[in-house]
Amino acid sequence: MSKGVTKQSEDFPKWYTDVVTKAELADYSPVKGSMVIRPYGFALWENMKAALDNMFKETGHVNAYFPLFIPKSFLSKEAEHVDGFAKECAVVTHHRLRATADGKGVEADPDAKLEEELIVRPTSETIIWSMYKKWINSYRDLPILINQWANVVRWEMRTRLFLRTTEFLWQEGHTAHATAEEAEEETLKMLEVYRKFAEEFMAIPVLTGPKTESEKFAGAETTYCIEAMMGDKKALQSGTSHNLGQNFAKAFDVTFQNENNEQDLVWATSWGVSTRLVGAVIMAHGDDKGLILPPKIAPYPVVIIPIFRDDTKDAVMKHTEKITESLKSAGVIFHLDLREKMSPGWKFNEWEMKGAPLRMEIGPRDAENDAVVLARRDTGEKITQNIGKIGEFTANLLNEIQNAMLEKAKIFRDDNTFDIADYDEFKQRNESDGGFYRAGWCGSEECESKVQEETKATIRVIPFDENPSGKTCLLCGKKAKHEVVFSKAY
Ligand SMILES: [Zn+2]
Repeated sequence: MSKGVTKQSEDFPKWYTDVVTKAELADYSPVKGSMVIRPYGFALWENMKAALDNMFKETGHVNAYFPLFIPKSFLSKEAEHVDGFAKECAVVTHHRLRATADGKGVEADPDAKLEEELIVRPTSETIIWSMYKKWINSYRDLPILINQWANVVRWEMRTRLFLRTTEFLWQEGHTAHATAEEAEEETLKMLEVYRKFAEEFMAIPVLTGPKTESEKFAGAETTYCIEAMMGDKKALQSGTSHNLGQNFAKAFDVTFQNENNEQDLVWATSWGVSTRLVGAVIMAHGDDKGLILPPKIAPYPVVIIPIFRDDTKDAVMKHTEKITESLKSAGVIFHLDLREKMSPGWKFNEWEMKGAPLRMEIGPRDAENDAVVLARRDTGEKITQNIGKIGEFTANLLNEIQNAMLEKAKIFRDDNTFDIADYDEFKQRNESDGGFYRAGWCGSEECESKVQEETKATIRVIPFDENPSGKTCLLCGKKAKHEVVFSKAY
């Protein structure tokens, strides 16, 4: 380690990869496109997962687990769905290996060819709705509010750690409802859960609203999303919530007897976020020194580094213990870095790079003065503080950091969001500066795809707070149907 990361301003993608690998969040695996999530990265994901899982349960959902393998025929039942995923599906064809004729290797045993090939799940709508057919008979069986934490596989040719990998971890909610209204309410409720999670835990402000037809999920009626701005002013789709209408109920023939004794098709939603969110945290907050993690999801909100020599060790460690006791009773999670082979300066650099929100330095003079030095990662500010009530002080400071990080990200996004009406000006500024551009759009796919072809910017979201009145389409100049947000995106 020790060698710094590439500067953001020099090469943002290289900065990103440097941070992911040097902060030991993830590593490349022997399988191209797949990643190994290392303990520090996994601890970050676990904290995010725990917070989300709480929020799902608070909104009435329960967890279950469905199989990794899906019969190939299931995928063809919903036409749009198969179109959307076919190109990236991994297919299992055999269930056994045998030694090759030369005895030097193994090959798929031709006698063990599967009668029906299996798909490694790219998403679980089909397998789940095949089960819902069994479980749903009457309105009394509804709603079903199930979430699954799982891995999925979407074969990717151009991969980037956390942002786009062939296998990734995620959660997928799959709900079944008696009415269209309930399904829409659920879709929006979960979008709001995602917004709240992004802002309150990841300290990332997000835009919310529906996607355009061409950007929606394969098989959905409407896809809503949370859309965030990264440090290079590109957008990252950070979570989606889909109203699936009756499409999957139709495909899997899932009907129920409603309260009027009539047979009706069930209404569905699905919603998900993935380990991509780890990438979002890295890119929304990081700086030239590395990661900056929000305290609420950081593996170690506080890292304590005692500084001593043989003759001062006892005094420093005694003092450190007083501090850790106080932190414990205030519920502050910390890591005590006692590695003896590394110098304090080396440790400072390492934890700075790994984005620990708060670093505590405890030396002999601090022990004498009943004090401790706290260094904020987000601002670089150093605070010398008496250790009386240090636990409470630290808990408050961590809250302050959490809020400051959200505020800073908000200001950055707002400073880089522009209203624009002139297409040539948009083209030029999108190219040179990046950012979010709010503009009118006539609603035609033709204009949407033309803009994408010519500028690489896509319509990220039709924001809930849109105001199309008086605006004209950025491309064709016709009366705007919507005000949308154009941006280049991950
Ligand atoms: Zn147009």
